[in-house]
Amino acid sequence: MSETPLENVVIIGSGPAGWSSAIYAARAQLNPVVYEGAITEENRMAGTLPLGQLALTSEVENFAGFPAGNLGGYLDSALPASRRGMMAPHGGEGVTGPELMELMRQQAVNFGTRVITDDIARVDFSQRPFRLFPSEGGELQAKCVIVATGASANWLGLESEHRFKNRGVSACAVCDGALPRFRNQELVVVGGGDSAVEEATYLTKFASRVHLIHRRDELRASKIMAQRAIDDPKVMIHFNATLEEVLGDDAKGVTGVRLGSTVAGGGETTLEVAGVFLAIGHTPNTAFLNGQLETNEKGYLVWKKHFRTNTSVEGVFAAGDVADDYYRQAISAAGTGCMAGLDAERFLAHG
Ligand code: NAP
Repeated sequence: MSETPLENVVIIGSGPAGWSSAIYAARAQLNPVVYEGAITEENRMAGTLPLGQLALTSEVENFAGFPAGNLGGYLDSALPASRRGMMAPHGGEGVTGPELMELMRQQAVNFGTRVITDDIARVDFSQRPFRLFPSEGGELQAKCVIVATGASANWLGLESEHRFKNRGVSACAVCDGALPRFRNQELVVVGGGDSAVEEATYLTKFASRVHLIHRRDELRASKIMAQRAIDDPKVMIHFNATLEEVLGDDAKGVTGVRLGSTVAGGGETTLEVAGVFLAIGHTPNTAFLNGQLETNEKGYLVWKKHFRTNTSVEGVFAAGDVADDYYRQAISAAGTGCMAGLDAERFLAHG
């Protein structure tokens, strides 16, 4: 007889989609287990630590139900001291990404969700029950799986960018911006979307000046967020500009950047900066699936039924950014997580 545990529903991923699906599955008495990700340097570099991308952001102003205000007392009462102690003190200006994620995690745990701090390294969806292989070894089986692994920050792929990763090059301003090496220094942010303007504005807390490098002549970011960056005297926007090379040396790390131009005859310029932050979009975290679920041309998982979270394998559902190349909002991820939890419940009830 096999020793392999058989789960009703395994949820892979611990962003808003993962926790919302867990809350619904747990309240439906499905006894779900969440693989929240492993705490490793590799995951830190890839932006795939537990609690997902929101754990890497600052204030969250657009998650309905969390207007600006002081949540200090509420956080103390809602979270166990062991988790509360790991977090930064509440700033009193509304919910932050890490706070929101801890609250969602706790809500799922309150309803009986089991949480494993490990990755699922590999899956086999070719047979039922499905087989899943955690990074730490062993195997589990599942009648139903919800994939909620999100997406990770992209890199430009420059050799010099790779060389100075962790020594002045980062894809997460909120994680790394407060480091001493960036204080009162000039910094570069690459990108023109909401992430780029948000990161540029955030970095002005520490930097003497932030250069926003964007390849086109207009920002992609939403009007309200773009305007904040445009109005900020510490942010200097370089339109039609590309990052060609990160300059530096082994002793100091990043010391500057060489910029190219997308305009004919634009020439090259160099800037003396101490840090480079990439904010050029994301790639869905699907490598562990090894092609077993259908994706679109951008690599995002595809829902096979209209407004249902069904993937191309019956009994496997997808929620959040891993299946969303369009909205990519915390609240839409949470919404599709709810849908996946309900879809899983109905699948298990009716087969
Ligand atoms: P995004 O909207 O896809 O923007 C990516 C930016 O990077 C674009 O400006 C793009 O340039 C640029 N880019 C892409 N590849 C590049 C390359 N190889 N070289 C140079 N530039 C490159 O991604 P995002 O800013 O991460 O936002 C993703 C989603 O999250 C969006 O839906 C956004 O609204 C949301 N978000 C929301 C908030 C918030 O509301 N607080 C904060 C962050 C993100 P082009 O413009 O030329 O394509």
